[in-house]
Amino acid sequence: MVRALRWLTTILTALLALTANAATPAPPSGVLEADEVRFITANAEFTLMHEMGHLLIHELHLPVLGREEDAADQLGFYGLLLLQDEESDRTLYSKLLDVADYWRLQWQHNQAQGHDDAVWDSHALDQQRFFNLSCLIYGSDPDRLEWVLDVTGLPIERALYCDQEYAQVRHAVDWLMQTLARNQSDAGGQSINVIYEPPQLNIERGPELLLRVKNSRILEDVTHNASQMFRLPRPLTLGVRNCGAPDAWYDRNTGEMTLCWELVSHYANLMPELRKLREQQRLAAHKSP
Ligand SMILES: [Zn+2]
Repeated sequence: MVRALRWLTTILTALLALTANAATPAPPSGVLEADEVRFITANAEFTLMHEMGHLLIHELHLPVLGREEDAADQLGFYGLLLLQDEESDRTLYSKLLDVADYWRLQWQHNQAQGHDDAVWDSHALDQQRFFNLSCLIYGSDPDRLEWVLDVTGLPIERALYCDQEYAQVRHAVDWLMQTLARNQSDAGGQSINVIYEPPQLNIERGPELLLRVKNSRILEDVTHNASQMFRLPRPLTLGVRNCGAPDAWYDRNTGEMTLCWELVSHYANLMPELRKLREQQRLAAHKSP
């Protein structure tokens, strides 16, 4: 799984190079800062793991208490955490905060646009997803991560129980692995087929991007690893497509997981707001004792 997610860095670095001259706001040099590339990569990784969570819930008939979207967020969060083996603490927690902060930026963006909260939606509200993820980050190691409270503004009333929320997620994932991960000797099971549509983003070198992604064969590694880890009951598909909107989903009827090229572009378009947020966080961290 760790190796499998490396594809995103390759893809996104290529995409960002290609979009540097497009509408994406960028520093004066025209090149995104390293932490901005990390923000986009982390959120794309989280999206992939969130959709993989939906896939596993449906294909393995996992019991879900509460909202499936919350469970998929928790699986996505824990998937990122599993990268820890190969990453420094600093990089890991920066990435996890990137994912939480995406939902804060979405929340602030919608507020500024005067959009009503989608209280009817199957997903938690954007600000709730921000605080839910912030709580899991802090709860993963409260003794060392008190600074997370400063930069996220997570109230102490919630923070007091975040270690228990994190332990609950860890227990669920441990149960999943112990109960359903297949042995090496298990035969059978279906695979996940990868389909690519050429990207139709506002970039001149889309075909080159597609070629680089395809030649890396890293999406094939992701899907192969998933089908090796779990006995999948039917043939499934991962489609990288043009959707007309920044989105991603798992369709339980067709068995297709879809990642949209537009979503990556959307992450990149948040850079001006991200820079403002990072400055606010620097000030908040500086003020804390
Ligand atoms: Zn979802």
